[in-house]
Amino acid sequence: MRTRFAPSPTGDLHLGGAWTALASWVLARARGGRVVLRVEDLDPPRVVAGSAARVAEDLTWLGLDWDEGPDVGGPFAPYTQSERAERYAAAVDALDALGLVYPCDCSRKDIARAASAPHAGEELRYPGTCRDAPRGRAMKREPALRLRVPTDARVGFDDGARGRLDQDVARDVGDFVLRRADGVYAYQLAVAVDDAHMQITHVVRAVDLLASTPRQLLLLRLLGMHEPSYVHVPLVLDADGRRLAKRAPRETVRALREAGVTPAQILGRLAQGLGLRDTDEPATAAEIARDAESREIAWTRDDWRAPSTWE
Ligand code: GLU
Repeated sequence: MRTRFAPSPTGDLHLGGAWTALASWVLARARGGRVVLRVEDLDPPRVVAGSAARVAEDLTWLGLDWDEGPDVGGPFAPYTQSERAERYAAAVDALDALGLVYPCDCSRKDIARAASAPHAGEELRYPGTCRDAPRGRAMKREPALRLRVPTDARVGFDDGARGRLDQDVARDVGDFVLRRADGVYAYQLAVAVDDAHMQITHVVRAVDLLASTPRQLLLLRLLGMHEPSYVHVPLVLDADGRRLAKRAPRETVRALREAGVTPAQILGRLAQGLGLRDTDEPATAAEIARDAESREIAWTRDDWRAPSTWE
């Protein structure tokens, strides 16, 4: 078993990040597997300098370690997406050789968001404007590259927390971006290629990325690459029941640490929220993994509200 934690270095680790990191870490550690840390820094304007190192520090403080990653290396290095462009280019070339890629010079606004993971509510169906435009025509601007999604692209999979799911990618999403006009590879392509290349067996992430999974699986199936299993855990909400914003400094691991909260207090509560333990008593990462060894992991489907106080 191989799992990964794939933070975007756009700010400090917040509780939602710690939650998915704990879930993927425990799954691997309870089953004798390996943990990969991958830094998803594809979108230059969103990257905050120094944040990848701070996130790694916060994970270490929590007691969540990794076997492969930017700092320790490993058989699938590099583990930082901005250093992996050759692999993404090769995947686009392979799809192009199948006749599945076309240039698109539609407006930037539509295309801009392609490099970031589209968290809930950001979906947009591309109507296929450039799909059948003649090859070699004059472009209005530097084009993006899109996948020509096959019309029979119904993609089904068994989610480890949510059961059988499927989606008609052509109908619901349309031809999605593989590479933006500025040359940045899209989140969907990069993540699918990296998970396959790094031989991730279980992608554990929050449910707001569930809608991306059929696209990633479609790419892997078209490329004939290894398919991981997926586990989509629920969201962490703030004490008022709203989605955690990256900007909310109160819910960062660092802020809790500075306020004197211990790793065991944080992990104990997260573990209960995830369905890994019956109590929310403080527990170290190792204790949580040990408990999970002897039980069937039944991931919760309920969003978890971060407590307003930690004593
Ligand atoms: N880097 C993405 C994010 O932080 C997560 C990608 C994933 O788990 O697939 O939103």
